[in-house]
Formats: sequence, C-alpha cells, structure tokens
Amino acid sequence: MYLGSHISISKGYEQAVKQAHKIGANTLQFFTRNPRGSKAKALDFNDIKKAQDFAAEKGFGPLVAHAPYTLNLGSYKEETWSFAVDIIKDDLKRLEVIESSFVVIHPGKHLGRGEEYALNRIVEGLNRVLEDHQGRTKILLEGMGGMGTEVCYTFEQLKYIIEAVENSDSLGVCLDSCHLYAAGYDVKKDFDGVLKLFDSIVGLDKLMAFHLNDSKHGLNSRKDRHANIGEGKIGEEGVKRIINHPLLKEVPIILETPGGIDNYEREIRLLKSLING
Ligand code: FE
Ligand code: FE
Ligand code: ZN
Repeated sequence: MYLGSHISISKGYEQAVKQAHKIGANTLQFFTRNPRGSKAKALDFNDIKKAQDFAAEKGFGPLVAHAPYTLNLGSYKEETWSFAVDIIKDDLKRLEVIESSFVVIHPGKHLGRGEEYALNRIVEGLNRVLEDHQGRTKILLEGMGGMGTEVCYTFEQLKYIIEAVENSDSLGVCLDSCHLYAAGYDVKKDFDGVLKLFDSIVGLDKLMAFHLNDSKHGLNSRKDRHANIGEGKIGEEGVKRIINHPLLKEVPIILETPGGIDNYEREIRLLKSLING
C-alpha cells in the first residue's frame, strides 16, 4: 500500500521525499508550481536524481503532482483557458524529467455557461494539451465535490471527458473521499458500492490516485471542506473501510487534511493502526 500526504517541494525534491519518509509515508503529492500563481522553478537535475534514488531505495510508490487549482480549462474566457492549456502542457514536459507519473488537475468550472459547455471546453483544452504529448505522464482528472460551478462531480461527467478526448490513454482519474461524499457518493456507508459504480461507469483501470480526506460537511452537501481523519462526517469507521479496500492496494493514497506536516505524521500513524492485519 502506498500512503502519503501533500508535501512542499520549496526546499527541493530530495528534501520532500526524505521528509515523506520521515513521517512514515511511501509516496507524496506536490504542487508543480505555486498553487495560486504560475511561476515554476527551474529544474535542478541533480536534486531530482537524488530524490529518485532515495525514493527507489525506500520502495516508494508513484509520486503524484498536482497542478495549480486556480486553472480553469472549462472557462469561456480565452485568456483563462489558454493559460490553463499552456501551464498543463509545460507541467507535463517538466514531469517527464521528474518521472512523476501523474499530474492531478481540477477539471474546471462553467462560470454560468452551463455544465455541458464546460465539459466540451475541457475536452477541447485537453486535446490541445495532449496533441504532441508522447511521454508516459498521465493527467488525472480529479472528481470534484460540485461546489459552485465546478464540473466533474459525477462519474458520468468524468466518463464524458475521457471518452471525448482523442488521446484518452493519457488520462486517468483521482478520486477524493471528501469530494465524493460532498457530491453524494456515500463512501462512509458503502465505499465498495461507490467503487463498483465507478467501475461500471468509468472503469477502475482509470483510478490512478486517491485523496483521503474526511469531510466537514455532510453527504451531498456540495461543499468541499476537508476535515482531519476521523474528525469529520465520514468518521474513523468510514475511513477504516476505505483504506482497507483491496482495490486501493496499488493506488497512491494522499492525505490533504488541515494541520501541516506534524498532523500528517500523526494521521499516517493513525491510518496504519486502522489497517487490518
Ligand atoms: Fe485537488
Ligand atoms: Fe483532492
Ligand atoms: Zn477538496
């Protein structure tokens, strides 16, 4: 099982991987650049090599990159849309060097134009991003909570995009337990049922990463507010069923809960204590 948390790469990749190891993790997620801004640091190849060697030595699973969450491929505004296309394109190139296999994106928001408009706009954007992509890094569409005008809070919407994009072999999905719960998928009572439903609509082969967060709000609240493990509406029993699900064995599981690195260390310890035999 690959368990980790979001970790800052502000001090470099090697430091981030070592920090992950120190808190008991064997994977991690990092922002490809400032989550609000756009500037990416120049790559330090020596640092990346050291990080890779360390991760390999410690048996790490795939590392997960996350694009800035301010990008909106669903936007009708030309500038916003092409900015998102350019950043994701650039991130894909950089990630080939880092050998992170996945970059998670928040698919987009319709800003009043309607969900269908946004879904098609996202498809158009992803086709542009992937037009000359030959690498092995995959873009993971994150399943959203359905807050505001976000799309991709249903499995049908995720499926729509994956089917419509030309190079769909380069696409996967990252599910987030808090978002699922907010969107009305009852991961607390029936995680197995939720995964079966996902399998029947999208296909489990597309599930490539999982964000593990408890939820401050209730089922179908359409509010995306992460809570600490066991302290939200999903609760410890719900989380216990999620992390013990056999279908998550090969999928990197990433914590994005409040409280920083000390909290991640504590929650990883707690999660390990909840894993059956
Ligand atoms: Fe996210
Ligand atoms: Fe998430
Ligand atoms: Zn969230």
